[in-house]
Amino acid sequence: MNRWSQVDPLMLAQGENVLRVLRDGGHQAFFVGGCVRDELMDRPVHDMDIATSARPDEVVRLFDRTVPTGIQHGTVTVLMEDQAFEVTTFRRESDYADHRRPGSVEFVDAVTEDLQRRDFTMNAIARGLDGELIDPFDGRSDIERGLIRCVGVAEERFEEDALRMMRAVRFASTFGFRPVKSLWKALLDGRDKLSCIATERVRMEMEKIVLGPDPLRGLALLERSGLFRHAKAAQGPAATEAEADAGGEAPGAEAALAQRLLHREPPRRALLAALPLLEPAPPAQRWSLLLQALGAPGEAASPLLKSWTFPNQTAQEAAGIVRFDEAWEAVHAGAPGEREQRRGWIGLQVAFGRETAGLWLRRQQTVLQAASGDDAWRQAGQAMLTRAAQWHREVQVHTLKELAVSGGEVLQAAERKGGPWLSELLRELLLAVAAGELPNDRQTLLDHVKTGVKEDGSKSVD
Ligand code: ATP
Ligand code: MG
Repeated sequence: MNRWSQVDPLMLAQGENVLRVLRDGGHQAFFVGGCVRDELMDRPVHDMDIATSARPDEVVRLFDRTVPTGIQHGTVTVLMEDQAFEVTTFRRESDYADHRRPGSVEFVDAVTEDLQRRDFTMNAIARGLDGELIDPFDGRSDIERGLIRCVGVAEERFEEDALRMMRAVRFASTFGFRPVKSLWKALLDGRDKLSCIATERVRMEMEKIVLGPDPLRGLALLERSGLFRHAKAAQGPAATEAEADAGGEAPGAEAALAQRLLHREPPRRALLAALPLLEPAPPAQRWSLLLQALGAPGEAASPLLKSWTFPNQTAQEAAGIVRFDEAWEAVHAGAPGEREQRRGWIGLQVAFGRETAGLWLRRQQTVLQAASGDDAWRQAGQAMLTRAAQWHREVQVHTLKELAVSGGEVLQAAERKGGPWLSELLRELLLAVAAGELPNDRQTLLDHVKTGVKEDGSKSVD
């Protein structure tokens, strides 16, 4: 293997420059980790990590632009043109505290020693400037056979760093690989140590599983391994590391829901069938579906995702889709005619916003595609979604700010004392404009307010 075929040529040229500068400075330097593995698997390479015998201060000295990203652990980011490369000094790790990060690192001179600290054989291959591979653990043959195998003794490696168990499941799911027997056994024996790992790091692996090409396989592996329920967040939102150490097992109310993740209660399989077909971006589409498949009600969705440290935007969007789905279900069931349905839809679109309604529409289109049902059922579903998509396009205003009249103007026109009626009236005006029943024109709206007030001395619009 001499050429890289999966790397952007500009990135490759600069990466090779970094290797050259290090080599010319009298050091060893290699590409390592994910980039070498992905190239061997014919998968696109997104970044190129570099390992070198040069000590961090030497790396800083050799390049014009560097950032001391994690200099105490040996990592310096080197900037070349518009590319950034993480350059890490060969190191050995030891004194793992609490099955997490290494307590101390020691710089070493041999690349093979550096490869030895890495998690799986497929991630422990180095590649030099001339394309030569340094593959002391036969990672290449494991890649060819689709196997995930720890470097060294699996029990020990999971004992050192429990996140590696999640990473094993993640790679199995995203690559369609099989964990070797010894790894799986070590994982079953060591799974309770996952509770020592920060929720955020576990969540990031879960995201790669759920947003990856085969989320169902990953979820099934999480279920079979029992890993999920040993995650800190699944043991209750208040569970601190100290409590986990003390063996705090009793799950809180939210945790009980979290534990349903494919473990305690069978999910709604029909919904899950759509999971792999949904676009992974934005992620809220897949998460909202997963939550519903687990039977999580809309009001629980946002706190649940937040306790798993999801970014606010994802938590809000996913919860919004679930709540929209529930609200639409209720409207749909209670509004038999198309006119009422249209008004109901528009009311929800105004309440939840255009974005959420749009995300729900896109998601439901995929759910319908994946669902098994007879032709008549499918056609009815499609007709419904087509109508809703039309209504979605028709709505032009979503907030009171977009209305051509202000609260003050309405108050003046109504010649009444302010009160709760005002905000109710404004919402009704907004809905009438959104539904195209009134034009968004200042005078028309004020005239409408005046007639309404005159007619019944109150706030009615219709
Ligand atoms: P991805 O495609 O997700 O970036 P990756 O293998 O590059 O996969 P990174 O988290 O970027 O994963 O880590 C880079 C490399 O560092 C890995 O290939 C592996 O060699 C090593 N590594 C990462 N995490 C661990 C860990 N927890 N234990 C041991 N080695 C690790
Ligand atoms: Mg990487």
